Amino acid sequence: MSGERLTCRRADFPILKSGEHEPPLIYLDSGATTQKPQEVIDTLSDFYQRDNANIHRAVYALGERSTARYETARAVVARFINAPSSNEIIFTRGTTESINLVASSMSTQIGAGDEILITHLEHHANIVPWQLLCQRVGATLRVLPIDERGDLCLDRLDDLVTHKTKLFAFSAISNALGTVNDVQALCDYARSKGVMTLIDGAQAIAHTPVDVQALGCDFYVFSGHKLYGPTGIGILYGREALLNELPPYQGGGDMIDEVFFEGSTYKPVPSRFEAGTPNIAGAIGLSAAIEYVQRLGLQSINEYENELIKYGVEALSEVPNLRIIGTPKHRASAISFVIDGAHSFDVGTLLDGYQVAVRVGHHCAQPIMRHFGVTATTRASIAVYNQRSDFDHLVKSLFRVIKLLA
Ligand SMILES: *Cc1c(COP(=O)(O)O)cnc(C)c1O
Repeated sequence: MSGERLTCRRADFPILKSGEHEPPLIYLDSGATTQKPQEVIDTLSDFYQRDNANIHRAVYALGERSTARYETARAVVARFINAPSSNEIIFTRGTTESINLVASSMSTQIGAGDEILITHLEHHANIVPWQLLCQRVGATLRVLPIDERGDLCLDRLDDLVTHKTKLFAFSAISNALGTVNDVQALCDYARSKGVMTLIDGAQAIAHTPVDVQALGCDFYVFSGHKLYGPTGIGILYGREALLNELPPYQGGGDMIDEVFFEGSTYKPVPSRFEAGTPNIAGAIGLSAAIEYVQRLGLQSINEYENELIKYGVEALSEVPNLRIIGTPKHRASAISFVIDGAHSFDVGTLLDGYQVAVRVGHHCAQPIMRHFGVTATTRASIAVYNQRSDFDHLVKSLFRVIKLLA
């Protein structure tokens, strides 16, 4: 199918089938989590029915099968983001844990007087772990500002990146505004200054192709559940040599080489960072999700969604007193808006009465909300199961909501 023009994939997702919800659900909250296609659901249940055993321990056939499926999943992820080696793929709980892992283990690389640069567009998951690291080691957090559109002020990079800067952490796509950052340019810039990079790909991973070798980033992180996969599973990609320099994040089974009471030695990556029994079914479910998007083709998904999001912006512009928050030059997957005189929470609650699921609140990005002088927005975000009629339905419902709130 890859290369062909994509059409709406609603039929692949059992939760969206008519009959599940009456009238059918208009799900516009994929920025928070995506729905799951039938084959991901089937893969999870198939694993528990046929292959469940703990991994890396058993000598019996069942354990060998579960280990093989888990390690095959790792290879699927590596190929998906073009990582040179499966050893560079660490299974975590999600984006949040991946960033916390790096921030925790980087305390050997970042010290007093050093600086970490983030951007004003970040999710709290890409702010707070760095604040904690800075407090622990005496480093300073710097923030690249955004302009009135919600785009990064790239002209400020030269002031903010100095010999003190050790790491630049930034999102590929903002979950709150839908801003698409030029991650290639940001990576190239950082590398020219000898600064390490971490890309928060939580939003980007389901919407754009990713090639970590072309990007030349040091770390790339994302969550399975925003990529049509299960919750509780995520990815940390890191350059192998760099990862092997970092101390473990958690201690426990499977990550050690030898244990003595006087001290222990650790395995190389990926085991080094996977202490304890991991989310085996989650990893296998994630690989099924990746195979699903690969079959559709990320380029085709990107084209389909870009056209749809443009339609959404136009459709929402017809609603009186509606203000779209953030007008980035390149937008993907999300539209945030406020309606003058109406509370976002009221808007969201009333929309639910018309079977429209949207997100309201600060979207775990309070600094962005402050930048635009709002405390909350309503956010519509899309995935491959959305279509133009979803935005038509949203707009029609908003007209009704405005009347109710008047
Ligand atoms: C959702 C999200 C996160 C956090 O992901 P979790 O799955 O909750 O760990 C981080 N960054 C961005 C941009 C997100 O959209």
